[in-house]
Amino acid sequence: MDYVSTRGSAPVLGFDDVLLAGLARDGGLYLPREWPHFSPAEIRAMRGLSYPELAARVMRPFMAGSVAEPELSRLCAESYAGFTHPAVAPLRQIGADQWVLELFHGPTLAFKDYALQLVGRLFDHVLTHRGERVTIVGATSGDTGSAAIESCRDRSAVDILILHPKGRVSEVQRRQMTTVLSSNVSNLAVEGTFDDCQDLVKSLFADSAFRDEVRLSAVNSINWARVMAQIVYYFSAALSLGAPDRPVGFSVPTGNFGNIFAGYCARLMGLPIQRLVVGSNTNDILTRFFESGVMQSGVVVPTLSPSMDIQVSSNFERLMSLVLNGDGALVTDLMTGFRQTGTMALPQGAWESMRPLFSAYRFDDAETLATMRWLKRETGETLDPHSAIGIAAGFRAVLEPGLPMVALATAHPAKFPDAVEQATGTRPGLPPHLANLFERPERMETVANDAGAVKDAVRTFVGRGRA
Ligand SMILES: *Cc1c(COP(=O)(O)O)cnc(C)c1O
Repeated sequence: MDYVSTRGSAPVLGFDDVLLAGLARDGGLYLPREWPHFSPAEIRAMRGLSYPELAARVMRPFMAGSVAEPELSRLCAESYAGFTHPAVAPLRQIGADQWVLELFHGPTLAFKDYALQLVGRLFDHVLTHRGERVTIVGATSGDTGSAAIESCRDRSAVDILILHPKGRVSEVQRRQMTTVLSSNVSNLAVEGTFDDCQDLVKSLFADSAFRDEVRLSAVNSINWARVMAQIVYYFSAALSLGAPDRPVGFSVPTGNFGNIFAGYCARLMGLPIQRLVVGSNTNDILTRFFESGVMQSGVVVPTLSPSMDIQVSSNFERLMSLVLNGDGALVTDLMTGFRQTGTMALPQGAWESMRPLFSAYRFDDAETLATMRWLKRETGETLDPHSAIGIAAGFRAVLEPGLPMVALATAHPAKFPDAVEQATGTRPGLPPHLANLFERPERMETVANDAGAVKDAVRTFVGRGRA
């Protein structure tokens, strides 16, 4: 399968190279040149597959020519073997047409495990095959970092450094990263926001000499393989609710737009998704965009859902590229303008073409807590603040009667115990494999919000690891 950059001027690459590259050399994001499409009969034939079997079936076309059977099936089986629920991604009914897709049964209790457990293994597989080694650098607003570290800690062909905004991730999130003391893992606490961390990572990648020097690579949400692996649970949920013979909607608590974009991909592949509903917290750049057609970045405000505390949704560029029919020059112009001015207006027709499918709603912390409290009372479900925003958005959306609406629950309540206690009066406990998290020793390094300082930290770490 060939991949092209959203900005149109980076080389066309195969799956392996897209996996390892992360960001394209022209600053864009990779997308498949042609979308695989499953007929209704092919989707029907997926019913009854286990989650790992479904994963291999759905993702196989994207890796054609790169990862062949039986490796793909083996990698999928290994990736989901450590999940603590037998269904991997179970669905729970919470109303007549409302469902919750629980995506928090992986090792770090957030939906990011569903992609990263596979991506870490794909990296190791491809690099070992090539006799190469890379340095993975990523920015996290909380959950990506621990999931990435967890997926790379036992791999021989990678070093991993994760930047997080100092003091702006929950203690559970921080400890899930900093208590991993493996010699190929390093944590950098940046004096800045998540967007600063993300900008630092981007500037490292933009420096080609540095990029080659340390063999820089990424597993953050701009990596195509992450999006690809997330497509699987949209299939899994829709199949359970009657696809391809019954349409379905999804509501998704959204930050970087990676998760909900995977739903858009599933739709391009033939899954009958009728609605995609974005849930935002107070950092509502996407909600304002879907209301107005204008993307305008603001100041990041800390909320109870820190994994969504961002003002620039990187993966949105992928959707933009698709609705602009792959016009790389136009995407480049729009993104360059956005970077310079903080504002970007999409051509009217492009915005209008998104509106029948997408809608978006914002919820502040008080509304988030009220949703959590209401859910506990009405359904007995305890949910984390991110998941609550997804559910609230699903309930608020105006839908065709009878359309099943699946809200994606993206984190386990125990990742955000303070908010859960504030909302429900009960403090959720960590599951057994993380029970002693607060007693484990931590290791991290504080760095200034400065690309030079971060490069030095990467060089030192990689030099030490490889000396
Ligand atoms: C990362 C994350 C999100 C946001 O997902 P995107 O793919 O960035 O939109 C939402 N909830 C939780 C718990 C997360 O970890």
